[in-house]
Formats: sequence, C-alpha cells, structure tokens
Amino acid sequence: MFEFGRWLVTAALPYSNNLPHIGNIVGSHLPADIFARFLRLFGEDVVFVGGTDEHGSPTEVAAFQSKLTPKELCDRLYVIHKKIYDWFGISYDNFSRTSRPTNHKISQEIFLKLLSNGFISKKKLLLPYCTVDKKFLPDRWIEGTCPNCGHRPARGDQCADSCGRLLDPSELIEPYCVICKNKPVFKEVEHLFLELPKFEKELEKWIKENKHWKANVRNLVLGWINEGLRARCISRDLTWGISIPLEGFQDKVFYCWFEAPIGYISSTVEWAENIGKPEEWKKYWQDRNTKIVHFIGKDNIVFHAIIWPAILMGTQEFTLPYQVAGLEFLNYEGDKISKSRSWGVFLDVVDNEVKVKVGDKIVEVEPDLLRFYLALIMPETKDSDFVWKEFERKVNGELIGNLGNFAFRALSFLRSNFNSNVPEPDELKVKDKNLLKKIEETKKVVKKNVLELKLKDALKNIFELSRAGNKYFQEKKPWETLKKNPEDCRNTMYVAVNLVRSLAVLTEPFIPFSAEKLWTQLNLEGSVHEQDFENVDKIILKPGHRIGTIEPLFKKFETKI
Ligand SMILES: [Zn+2]
Ligand SMILES: [Zn+2]
Repeated sequence: MFEFGRWLVTAALPYSNNLPHIGNIVGSHLPADIFARFLRLFGEDVVFVGGTDEHGSPTEVAAFQSKLTPKELCDRLYVIHKKIYDWFGISYDNFSRTSRPTNHKISQEIFLKLLSNGFISKKKLLLPYCTVDKKFLPDRWIEGTCPNCGHRPARGDQCADSCGRLLDPSELIEPYCVICKNKPVFKEVEHLFLELPKFEKELEKWIKENKHWKANVRNLVLGWINEGLRARCISRDLTWGISIPLEGFQDKVFYCWFEAPIGYISSTVEWAENIGKPEEWKKYWQDRNTKIVHFIGKDNIVFHAIIWPAILMGTQEFTLPYQVAGLEFLNYEGDKISKSRSWGVFLDVVDNEVKVKVGDKIVEVEPDLLRFYLALIMPETKDSDFVWKEFERKVNGELIGNLGNFAFRALSFLRSNFNSNVPEPDELKVKDKNLLKKIEETKKVVKKNVLELKLKDALKNIFELSRAGNKYFQEKKPWETLKKNPEDCRNTMYVAVNLVRSLAVLTEPFIPFSAEKLWTQLNLEGSVHEQDFENVDKIILKPGHRIGTIEPLFKKFETKI
C-alpha cells in the first residue's frame, strides 16, 4: 500500500542574520521534524539535514555595523540558531553552515560541471551603483516599485511582500538606495548566468510527472514556466561568499541562492563524515530511489521547484526532489509577522538560554506546548493565524484536557487500585474490543496521512483516539466496577494502559519531550523515539508490568500575554 525506502528530509536553511520566529518554525523546521520523526518510527531509512545560510549582503552589512567580520558574526549566530532548534526538539541528523569548506568545495565543483555542460553564460549587466556610498547595491540594498503588481517597496531580487515574482534590480520602477535613499546610477559589469531557458522543457515534463505534489505548488510552477524562464545571474560583487573558480571572476562570489541549496548536499556529506562513512551521502543524492523532501515557505517555491532542480539537472549527477512541500504563511494575531514592528513570537538566546519573546516580554512556555499548537494551525493549504487566546484554549482543552487527562487518570487509577501493576484481563467485551480496533484504525490512517504530508490531519486522528480513550474510561466507570464487577475493571485498566502506551508513540513526532516523559512513567525500556510504529496497536504492556512514578504531563497554561 505504501512506498517505502530511503528519504532525505530538509528544512529551509534559515538565513543566519534573521533570528527565527514562529512563522519560520512552522514553515519548515517543525513540519520537516514531524515528518522525519514519523519516518524513523515507520522504520524508514531517513536522514534529516539543515544548516544556516550565511553568505550575502545582509550579513555583510550587519557585520560591518557591529564592527565584526562576517565570519565572527556568523560564528555567534550559528550557536544561537542551533540552540533554538535543539530547544524546539528539531531532530536534525546534521545542522551545518553554508560557509564551511565542504560547501565551498561542492559549490565550486557543481559550478564547474554546469559550466562544462554548457549551462553557464556571461552577460554584461547594468548594475545599480550608489555614488554616495560608493558601492554596488546588491539585491536587498535597492528597492523600488514592482513592475508586475505595482507594490512599493519591492526588493531588488523579489517582490517578496506582494506578488512573489523574482526581479532584477534594473526592472524596479523608481529605484532607490536603501542606505541613503538616493537614486543609484547604473554601471556596466560582466556577470555569470545560469541558463534557465535551457531547462524549460525538462522542468515542465518533470513537474507534470510529479502528480503527488500539491496542486497549488504545481500550478504556480507550471505558470512560471509557461511565461518563459529567463537566465538568472549567479554572481555577486561581494567579498563574503564562495569565490568563483573562473578566470576574470575571482573577485566575485556566488549569489547565495546558488550555493545555499547546495548546503543540503554538503550537510549530508558532513553527516556521512561524522558517522565515519564518508561515501554514504551518495546514497541520498545520487540514487534515484531516494526520496528528497524539501520543507519550505511558499516564498521559496520558485527556488526549490525551478532553480534548484535546474542546477541538479545541469550536473547530470544528482537526484531531483521528490517533494517540495511549500507551506503557506502564518500570521500573528490577525496581522503579518514583522520583526521591525516586533509583531509576532520570536525565539532568542538570553544568558545562554532559549527564550520565547513577545515584543520585549519573555513568556514562559514549554516547547511541546508551542509544537502542539503550531502543528494544529500549520498552514498546509492556506494562511493561518497564531492567536494567544486560541493557544490557551487548545492547549488547556486538548493537550491537557484530552491527552494529559486521559493518561493521568488511567495511570493514577492503576497506581491507587492495582498497586501500579497491569492487571490480568478477563475475556474482553465489545467496548474493550472496539477501543482496540480504534487504535488499529488510527495507526493506519495516521500513516496514510503522514505519507501524504497531511500532518495536521494525522494530529487530529491521534487526538480523536485520545478522546475515544476518555469516553471509554468514563463509560466503563472502573471506580464502580472495581468492587461490583472486578473482571470488567481489570479489562478496562488492561486496555486503557495499553492505549496510553499507543498514544505515547503516536504523539512522539508532535510532542517528543512529553511523549518521552510518558514513556518513563510507563516504565518502558528504551526510548519512545526508537519504537516500531507497526506495534502501535499491539498489546505490549502485559499483566504484571509495573508502571513507574507518575505525575501530570503538562502544567496549565495561564500566562497573560
Ligand atoms: Zn509584485
Ligand atoms: Zn546610497
């Protein structure tokens, strides 16, 4: 029924100069992590990689302003990024940096392959130059009006806030220098281009074959191809970046969008070196049976569904993405998340500890609570909204009132009345069997939904099962049957405690810290992260098994924002 095999999962490489907010987390790191965790439970061969995207003009400028070298700044930022994803339980097998030598080497090799295969051209460009600041104005340092939709300001590289179209600085209407607001002059310089038009036919064929992609992503990409692709400049007049190994271009670096996705490959190479099998990465990038899944925000679709596959095609050596999961945007309390307006929930490291910030205020909240709510509102098919009132309602009602309540009620009843031992059941009755059947059905539907990337549906399936557990416990009234019908009471506890175990495994990809706590309370061997999903619906807790020390899984969330 399902396709099994080898997977490489990636989350969008965060730009090191931007500290993450909940929108970044929900748009790539979290869904990628949930997916990778499920694949591990399914027993699939999976490697999950990421890393910081460090080059480019924004970092150069920020470093200059903080009187650091770009490398010094990125060294600091990398530590902060890594801490934040670790805190969130993002289970990267390797989290690399695009500035590491491996990425330099592989990017240069890939460039040389594209060059010798005839996919790189040289063109003279008129580039914006600020006579006041005496420098070329790369991408982000020039703004103006979008020629496509009229939005102002559109950035020099993309109309990021409105129509999403990729732009060239020369296309902007009424451009201005972001630093001094003066109108730049245009100077002629020679640059290198990736010949995207040469890939049009192959890209179109490939995308049409990818019928398992989401319709919105496929249609968007096919639309762009139908409009006709243009050659894309891959060099920049910067110093912080990967130098270009070609006569006449040594003083330039690769555009970070050329080498950043190559970071997925170099992160995998690094992972292979770390496990002492340096050739192992090839299984994930050069074997056509591997399924490469990229989790990205919708503003990155064009890079991952056109430019990146074109680069891979052009080398004639690498496997193309199996899935580009383009997520929609997350808003905050009805408005767009904005760093400059401090609008949103941001992650930062203060005194060496990860803190959740709303504006300047630090909010105490456990990562699993955020993971749960973010998974619940994940913008899989349309934009969604983070609302604190709703957060409180869902966390207290579902996570605590449904799951936490069922687990604690069942386990504390076992502790009080069965001396913490799983009882010997009698012959199971209809209600008991129905609940066991419900676990079996949930297992199947969760697996199906996950493989179709419907992670929100999978979460709903799991919480429906937990709700069924609460209903079962309520209807079977073990506190009454304890004396009146002890056989039935034993059946109830036997089934209920096994359901608690099933729920620990099922919820692991969503709330890994709490699932592991539950695992410890059940006094089970090993880690919940290493379980076999096939056994989710099996009776594993046998009569006589003694559970451990129990306590409520979550604390009620009562913080006023
Ligand atoms: Zn536009
Ligand atoms: Zn200027």
